[in-house]
Amino acid sequence: MIKISIDEISKKEIEKNFWEDANSNTTGLIQVLNTTNAKNILMNKHRKIYDVLYDAATGDINVAEVKELLLADRQSLKKYIGLFGNYSSNKILADELLDNIFRYDRYSKRRVAVEVLKKMKVTVCPYCNRQYIFTLSNGHVRPQFDHYYPKSRYPYLALSLYNMIPSCSICNMAKSSLDTLKEPILYPFVEEMGSEAKFVIKGKQNGNFVRMLQGISNEFIIDLNTTNARNEAVILNQMTKLHLNDLYNEHKGYVMDIIKSKYVNSPERINELFLSFPTLFDSYEDVKNLLYMTNIQKEAWGNRPLSKLTYDIDSQLEKGSIEEE
Ligand SMILES: [Zn+2]
Repeated sequence: MIKISIDEISKKEIEKNFWEDANSNTTGLIQVLNTTNAKNILMNKHRKIYDVLYDAATGDINVAEVKELLLADRQSLKKYIGLFGNYSSNKILADELLDNIFRYDRYSKRRVAVEVLKKMKVTVCPYCNRQYIFTLSNGHVRPQFDHYYPKSRYPYLALSLYNMIPSCSICNMAKSSLDTLKEPILYPFVEEMGSEAKFVIKGKQNGNFVRMLQGISNEFIIDLNTTNARNEAVILNQMTKLHLNDLYNEHKGYVMDIIKSKYVNSPERINELFLSFPTLFDSYEDVKNLLYMTNIQKEAWGNRPLSKLTYDIDSQLEKGSIEEE
């Protein structure tokens, strides 16, 4: 829903840390691939993977290819799926890779996972924009990693940096082994819901519109308008599979507060606050941030939960276009 934005300097540092760990740790991929056990497993039972990750003539690790697998962007992740296939019909072989070669269980416990998360600075779940997902430096609290292309189907992508999406446990659990190759949801390292799909409230038929527009009646539903969205099918799939349609309707009380705030705080009043406290607010919009206790600027949607919802409802109320459901 909200794109993960990582600046170029942080990105380089993250990739450097990540690659060094893969080289130096005993359960890092390079170290593992150097063992006879791993070589035998891949050579005998996962030949396609072996042929890519090892040099055919010498039997040495093809380091450049391993690095590409670990740092693969979305196109490369898809390329590997095309090469190595889907393991969903053979759990034994998938588990063999996860237990012996692509050991996410060990990676997720290592310090590097915390360092990567700290540098990514993702503090709100990018899939739902509902939950905080802070990472504590001591590593005791951190987001879960959702494997965008699920590791039960594509176990060889279990350790690929850009296949691991920091997310809340609810989204991770809801998404589970959804085959995002066939039924994609937004890929947060590149894609976002942006301004094309908008949350809207729709009044219930025979509901009291006046009370609803004062924020004292919950006779409305929260819907998503995707009419102008280029990737409508992907967005709708995400809303359904992660139960976001239903979950967002659990936030009606929050939306009532937005409506009430909008009703009480006229543009004149907001402007008055802005002019009265010039050292506290950078802009008119900044006053709104305080009133809504969130960030409504698009570039800051990833910082606070429900910021996109807040922005969209504020915009809708500004236009005064409330329809019936
Ligand atoms: Zn989430």
